[in-house]
Amino acid sequence: MNRRGFIKSSSMIGMGAALGLSGLPYSMQSQTRRSAILGGKRSFNGTWHGWPVVGTPEEEELLKVLRSGKWCRLGSPTAPRFEDEYRKMTGSGHALATSSGTTALTTMLGALDIGPGDEVILPPYTFIATYNVIVQNYALPIFVDTDIESFQIDASKIESAITSQTRALMPVHIGGSPFDVDTVMKVASKHNLPVIEDACQAHFAEWKGKKVGNFGLGGAFSFQASKNLNSGEGGAIITNDKGFYNKCYSFHHQGQGSDAASLEPGSGTRGSNLRMTEFQAAILLAQMTRIPEQIKQRSENAAYLSGLLSEIPGIKPAKLYEGTTRSAFHLYMFRYNKEAFAGMDRSTFVRALNAEGIPCSTGYTSLTKEAYVHNLAKNKHYLKIYGERGMKQWLEQIACPVNDKLCEEEALWFTQTMLLGDRKNMDMIADAIRKISREAKAISKL
Ligand SMILES: *Cc1c(COP(=O)(O)O)cnc(C)c1O
Repeated sequence: MNRRGFIKSSSMIGMGAALGLSGLPYSMQSQTRRSAILGGKRSFNGTWHGWPVVGTPEEEELLKVLRSGKWCRLGSPTAPRFEDEYRKMTGSGHALATSSGTTALTTMLGALDIGPGDEVILPPYTFIATYNVIVQNYALPIFVDTDIESFQIDASKIESAITSQTRALMPVHIGGSPFDVDTVMKVASKHNLPVIEDACQAHFAEWKGKKVGNFGLGGAFSFQASKNLNSGEGGAIITNDKGFYNKCYSFHHQGQGSDAASLEPGSGTRGSNLRMTEFQAAILLAQMTRIPEQIKQRSENAAYLSGLLSEIPGIKPAKLYEGTTRSAFHLYMFRYNKEAFAGMDRSTFVRALNAEGIPCSTGYTSLTKEAYVHNLAKNKHYLKIYGERGMKQWLEQIACPVNDKLCEEEALWFTQTMLLGDRKNMDMIADAIRKISREAKAISKL
């Protein structure tokens, strides 16, 4: 155990003593205690792991860039160093640093020359950026409903959403857990469609031992502050296709680049500035030294927590597909069934859990019900491109009832930082939920 870990776990023991907790396992202690929301003691009295983790490596890498005066990647060493390291850590042929996860996706859609009249398939259970990058190109976003067990795109429903206008599939490894890669890739290859993996939450997650982002034509990652790898803002593309890498490089660099002249027309005709700064790359290089330990911690805690929660009626951790050899656990996603909690609303359950000192979120609202999304049908450019009838038809077909049920009734999240702490924290989470379960009848009347 390192020094940090030792101090943390010994302060934990001290805390337990201060609370007068016996050596009993938490499950047995809880038999005698009331829910905090009913006036009992909080289950959680520790401290959650801080985020971001910062220290000497970050300071040293950042100061090196600052003092060098080379703050832009052009002709500078840091972004290329980061790319080389990220490429190696993901086992990929090429990596390209970008200014954000959104611009990593934008760059790939640009390299594919996705535009007006094209359809791109995406899941509704995702961060809105997945949708925005399609719409920014005036392409039509086509939603494929969610598999409620896994929270991932229901891969068995993709094929029926493909039309003669479909130009790409953009499935998301939501929560950091792989979607059903085998089924997605089978459909894609049957219809000869490129797959852009939105792996913005799935750093170093694995399907059958291979890192996600390596299965499609390209994979996008985000280094926004909440993500498992953090430089405030930032992103990256990985790909095993040299030609596609060249197109991406060119697009993210104003359509320029050493190979720009050799690019096919149609992909080398547009571009932007979506480059990563040297400062972002410096922070990432330092943060990446912490990754193996953090992966191990999240995986172990998540597996342990799933074991505890699976025992509680009405609580179901999100299913991991059989090919999953590692989830990044950006989110710890699980489902709540109020029938098993005396009909207690999910919002009351969250309040009760919060009262125990456990942060918990209901997660995404239903994307296909957002006014922001519905208003696309009234956008003047969309009306011009797809016609009134086309947009009316689009609106009539965007409903995703399974996803609605997940978003509105069942989904709950813990965040990745909660999985970085001590195993005792997991015991306290389960303890709190067991208390709420036991007193569900009383709490549901609040
Ligand atoms: C965070 C995220 C993005 C966007 O990344 P940014 O770096 O915030 O631009 C895209 N897709 C998903 C699924 C994300 O979670």
